[in-house]
Amino acid sequence: MKYDVTVIGSGPGGYVAAIRCAQLGLKTAIIEKYNVLGGTCLNVGCIPSKALLDSSEHYHNAAHSFKTHGIELENLQVNMEQMIKRKGEVVKSNNDGIAFLMKKNKIDTYYGLGSFVNKNTIKITDAEGKEQQIETDKTIIATGSKPTALPFLPIDKKRIITSTEALTLTEVPKNLIVIGGGVIGLELGSVYARLGAKVQVIEYMDAIIPTMDRGLGKELQRVLKKTLGFEFFFNHKVTGATNEGEVVKVTAENPKGETVMFEGDYVLVSVGRKPYTEGLGLENAGVQMGERGMIAVNDHLETNVPGIYAIGDVVRGAMLAHKAEEEGVLVAEQLVGQKPHINYNLIPGVVYTWPEVAGVGFTEEQLKEQGRAYKSGSFPFKASGRAKASGDTDGFVKVLADKETDEILGVHMIGPRIADLIAEAVTAMEFRASAEDVARMSHAHPTFAEAMKEACLAATENRAIHI
Ligand code: FAD
Ligand code: NAD
Repeated sequence: MKYDVTVIGSGPGGYVAAIRCAQLGLKTAIIEKYNVLGGTCLNVGCIPSKALLDSSEHYHNAAHSFKTHGIELENLQVNMEQMIKRKGEVVKSNNDGIAFLMKKNKIDTYYGLGSFVNKNTIKITDAEGKEQQIETDKTIIATGSKPTALPFLPIDKKRIITSTEALTLTEVPKNLIVIGGGVIGLELGSVYARLGAKVQVIEYMDAIIPTMDRGLGKELQRVLKKTLGFEFFFNHKVTGATNEGEVVKVTAENPKGETVMFEGDYVLVSVGRKPYTEGLGLENAGVQMGERGMIAVNDHLETNVPGIYAIGDVVRGAMLAHKAEEEGVLVAEQLVGQKPHINYNLIPGVVYTWPEVAGVGFTEEQLKEQGRAYKSGSFPFKASGRAKASGDTDGFVKVLADKETDEILGVHMIGPRIADLIAEAVTAMEFRASAEDVARMSHAHPTFAEAMKEACLAATENRAIHI
């Protein structure tokens, strides 16, 4: 077979790229190593983690907040088997959805490991070892990433686990030790803390979610401690772990240089992810690697070999599904001569804890570092009528705007449903709105979104109405 474009990898980067190529009239193939489509995001990432976050949030609310709403429950129990089964069904229905989209768009799907024979020939080896080759004019590599392990702390997948195993546990841990206070540690730590686990987070830096605006991590830390009993150990360097059957012992060096010991029944290692290129045969096509295992690409996401592109987690930038998707669309449109553009500064980051956390644009720390004159307006959810009605009064919205022009430079939020609310900030910033522009737009009452309007009012000559 001969294709205009072949996409290797069917995660959000790969399958979206394939659909856009097909929409643009290119004869397209997609190759996926596993026998299901959707990649990390759909199978062991975004979707299953959100399914468990939603299930565990229902349980936590039933156990802790229903009473204040006047709802009494007896004999509340967690049925872990059902929770995991439901998660599996959510994943499966999405798998089927992507397979349907491939068919609908007449994209040929190959299941097997894709590897370059040369620049224009790709070999596909299926699970039984059967090989076939296809010819391609252009190739988009979208092979994603895998969890990073610490060299002195091997993952045994039983008690010392990554996010992949944490999504299929058959019991609620009694004491979950989380190494790394980033997105995965806090999201999956929340799942099990809500279901009753004691969660201890060991973090190398001095804050959780350290790359987001610092105000967000501080507030999240406070709330997770208060509502879920999280314990945080900052500036701790993990040095090892041993699985002793039912118990894992973790050793770390505390800020004073002393060795301290943690004991839990499960240890979740969530210290980041690394690009995945194993078995791709990049050397056969002459594709050069960049830093830290990434494939090197230029601003057009093209590798050093003309006609071979790479997108998503396997290249530089945030390891996020929606970033991978935008890159897939960009490459497809470039292939037919269009001139698309991605504003990487406006790719939002979201943490699906409760309260949710989201940010877009520059953080306060970045603006200070740039020496840029800015003003800031905040609105706390405890002053929101909608938040009081739902009982979700933790958190705030903070808007950072240029001191002279009032253009919004960054929006950082923590609070109820703000994973969805951040879209308003992205829209405003894409259109280079000023804080006053948003402040003058009508926001339905009572909604959580009013907090965005109020924060913009606060940034505009301190004109917030409800604080
Ligand atoms: P991937 O999704 O990793 O897909 C790559 C695919 O390529 C895989 O299916 C792989 O099997 C296949 N492949 C690899 N090599 C070959 C080969 N040689 N031949 C054929 N196929 C191959 N991001 C968000 O934006 N929001 C979230 O809420 C979110 N939650 C997450 C939760 C968890 C627990 C994890 C682990 C990640 C989460 N992420 C989230 C990150 C997100 O999953 C990734 O950023 C995203 O999946 C990257 O997409 P991708 O297409 O680049 O690669
Ligand atoms: P991360 O980069 O978000 O966090 C890793 C944390 O581990 C950091 O805080 C880091 O300081 C800490 N750390 C690193 N080495 C350490 C060590 N030796 N000891 C203690 N702490 C250490 O990585 P992650 O949470 O593993 O997530 C991986 C990727 O997946 C992220 O890039 C993220 O973008 C993506 N993801 C996104 C979402 C989402 O969008 N909601 C959810 C999950 C994962």
